[in-house]
Amino acid sequence: MIPSAYSPEAARGLWVFLEQEGGQLEGVALELLGKGRELAQARGVPLTGLLLGQGVEGAARQAIAHGADHVLVAEDPLLAPYTTDAYANVATQIVLDRKPETLLLGATPNGRDLAGRLAVRLRTGLTADCTGLAWEGDTGLLLGEVSGFGGGVMASIKCARHRPQMATVRPGIFPLPSPDPERAGRIELVPVSLEAGEIRTEILERVRHEGVDITRAKVLVAGGRGVKGDFGPLTEFARLLGGEVGASRIACDLGWIGRDRQIGQTGFVTRPKLVVVCGISGATQFTVGIKAAGLIVAINSDPEAPIFEEADLCVVDDLFPILEALIAELKRGMP
Ligand SMILES: Cc1cc2nc3c(=O)[nH]c(=O)nc-3n(C[C@H](O)[C@H](O)[C@H](O)COP(=O)(O)OP(=O)(O)OC[C@H]3O[C@@H](n4cnc5c(N)ncnc54)[C@H](O)[C@@H]3O)c2cc1C
Repeated sequence: MIPSAYSPEAARGLWVFLEQEGGQLEGVALELLGKGRELAQARGVPLTGLLLGQGVEGAARQAIAHGADHVLVAEDPLLAPYTTDAYANVATQIVLDRKPETLLLGATPNGRDLAGRLAVRLRTGLTADCTGLAWEGDTGLLLGEVSGFGGGVMASIKCARHRPQMATVRPGIFPLPSPDPERAGRIELVPVSLEAGEIRTEILERVRHEGVDITRAKVLVAGGRGVKGDFGPLTEFARLLGGEVGASRIACDLGWIGRDRQIGQTGFVTRPKLVVVCGISGATQFTVGIKAAGLIVAINSDPEAPIFEEADLCVVDDLFPILEALIAELKRGMP
């Protein structure tokens, strides 16, 4: 077995990679700080944020307010945009120097990209796309919960002999912690040795994604194959509830609605206060994306549909007349 770059005995502390864009921390970085705080406290270790960028002091303060004890800041103009080479080079140097025991990253496009590169350079293991994190008793081993084999199996994965033990976590899995602007913490600037010649990535164009962010919706009305291509009533119902429309993968695959609305294992994990699930059978690959919802209402014409095992309120009926009646009722109550 290839040994990792440093041993478990030499490793200490729990780190969260603080992904930022234009000096603003990504939501998943804040979510990881919330979960990281809980894990660090349970293990009696400090929670450290690793922040790379340029002009990111505000983000470092934001991280402390959200639970970090200590933020390591590496600033360089070459780190202003995310590039694999620059971020991997600098993060590897800092990790090898400080030797964290555990490193958590968001499973965003950049987080996934960096995590894979880092794991190879550090010769350690990476549990990707976790939907849960916990310590294995008092062993200090991190258990990453991952769904495998198309969602049929939930696996608990640990990295017993290599450090850092790394995991990426999907956005929306953990709740956002409440910030405390008075929280004390230490911001430490780390010197960066990065040469422009080391960066082989050239950014040709930046395209801003203007789609909806269903992970932040308080109310979701989700539709699947049962809506038969007609998302009109769901859109109207969601609008009246002040919510957003979500969908099963099949509805997206069929081109009925944009991929940015897909809920589930290969879509988004959401945590709305209310989700109304219409014409969706309730495969585990879908339900993993709504498990944290406050209230699940399911409308399905099949009384045996698995979604009813997850739902708090079950409506066994054709979804269209039910939505029509609910829409009429909401409109009646409006001024
Ligand atoms: C690796 C992998 C990853 C996956 N990732 C995802 C994912 O992220 N998200 C996801 O959603 N799926 C995912 N899937 C697919 C998943 O397994 C299911 O196939 C999918 O969720 C089914 O979509 P559905 O419920 O819309 O369709 P169906 O399973 O066809 O269900 C349609 C439902 O509509 C009901 N219905 C029909 N007409 C009406 C009506 N008029 N009124 C009320 N009810 C009606 C039916 O009774 C039925 O229960 C993944 C699969 C794999 C293998």
